[in-house]
Amino acid sequence: MSDCIFCKIVKKEVPSQVVYEDDRVMAFKDINPVAPVHVLIIPKVHVESIMELDPASDVLKGIVQTVQKLSKEQGIAQDGFRVVVNCGPAAGQTVNHLHFHLIGGRNMGWPPG
Ligand code: 5GP
Ligand code: ZN
Repeated sequence: MSDCIFCKIVKKEVPSQVVYEDDRVMAFKDINPVAPVHVLIIPKVHVESIMELDPASDVLKGIVQTVQKLSKEQGIAQDGFRVVVNCGPAAGQTVNHLHFHLIGGRNMGWPPG
């Protein structure tokens, strides 16, 4: 997707603070963090939302592996953290390239806004 901001981040056409990358997955710091740790974990291929992700795909496996790895590396695994996937307008999805928010480093309320 030539006009997708996250595809541009994958291609390094737009700079980002990358914290993890392999052949399938990329993780970078959110430009507008809502907590001390706020990383976005994305498939390198363009997938519009979680509704378009193949549940049997290696991409999903890679994302879960990345959540586990980065939560430990970023020091939030022990206290706890949140993984958020917004899907569609009612949930507030603003970038239509699937991304998993990994958020931690502070206590969080429930229910979400
Ligand atoms: P959404 O609301 O779609 O679930 O989340 C989109 C997220 O992407 C937001 O938290 C926003 O701050 C982040 N974001 C949007 N554009 C950029 C960008 O160019 N670079 C980075 N690092 N994050 C971005
Ligand atoms: Zn994209």
